[in-house]
Amino acid sequence: MKGLVKYALGSEGVELRTLPEPVPKDGELKVKVLAAGICNSDVHAIRDERSVTMPVVMGHEYVGEVTETRGDVGPFKVGDWVVTLPACYSCGECYLCKAGYVTLCKERKSIGSHVDGAMANYVVVPAKYTFKVPERAKTREQKIEYALAEPLACMVRGVYEKIDVREGDVVVISGPGTMGLMALQLFKTRGAYVIMSGLPVDAEKLADARKLGADECVTSFEDLEKAVYAKNPKGADITCDCTGVAPALENCMKVIRPMGTHLQIGLFGGKVPFRLDYMFDREVNYIPSNSSAVSSWKIALRLLEEGKVSLSPLISKRFPLDEWKKGLDAVLSKTAYKVILIPDNEFDI
Ligand SMILES: [Zn+2]
Ligand SMILES: [Zn+2]
Repeated sequence: MKGLVKYALGSEGVELRTLPEPVPKDGELKVKVLAAGICNSDVHAIRDERSVTMPVVMGHEYVGEVTETRGDVGPFKVGDWVVTLPACYSCGECYLCKAGYVTLCKERKSIGSHVDGAMANYVVVPAKYTFKVPERAKTREQKIEYALAEPLACMVRGVYEKIDVREGDVVVISGPGTMGLMALQLFKTRGAYVIMSGLPVDAEKLADARKLGADECVTSFEDLEKAVYAKNPKGADITCDCTGVAPALENCMKVIRPMGTHLQIGLFGGKVPFRLDYMFDREVNYIPSNSSAVSSWKIALRLLEEGKVSLSPLISKRFPLDEWKKGLDAVLSKTAYKVILIPDNEFDI
């Protein structure tokens, strides 16, 4: 089979290789990958800004069909369509793993970073952290959408599990990218009034945000302030930063109400020049949300099954795995939403 392997330091240390098909161990499933998403963390890994165990097949956002099972795999059988929580090879024994917070485990091992991942024709995953794609997804197109179940589960962790959202809360989301538009849809399912904040170059993305339910879209701090205080003179009840850049966080802090909640989704990737007293002055609850828990997946899959969240508008480009470089360029250009790779050439892209 083919697999995209990170094998050495440096951006050049990645190549498509011919590999033996992986063999499942007890309790594992062998899955034929239909689609694998390229995540920003993959870009960080290629640039050595995130450490991975080399050589490793990349890819942790995927959807595929079970082709083989081994030992006790619970309810799974050949032919099931599945998705998997990436940190599925964590210790399984510590208090975090036992509570489903495997991503926070000290011994965390994730597919695509420490164990071979899904940018390949086949991936092997433990049944324990794998979930069935709901019956509702019947066509190939509907199934491809589930390659985004992983980032959705991460966003569910933030919006559903880490903070309280009340009907009518005024929410500011900074950054109308893939994560921002997922956050938007999730906040709308919770009855919030959402103001989407971007830059003038984000005009097209903000138009998409409107279609996906944003109540207002703004491209300057002045307009953001106006929109927030017109809706709630106290300020925004919740701000959510999906950019991971300091000026966006600062803008959030300037419009949040006293004792409001800030949800941090974007990763800063370094030191942040930021006056922390903004938070102190208003007694802001600063809540970071990092990846997903087992419980987040159950909520994410339920929302998808109920049709409450739509992921297909967030897939803007797809490439055969052979053309992974083009896929990566599309991610780096920042113009696309989610870019996915299709390993099997027998399918049309
Ligand atoms: Zn990811
Ligand atoms: Zn653990």
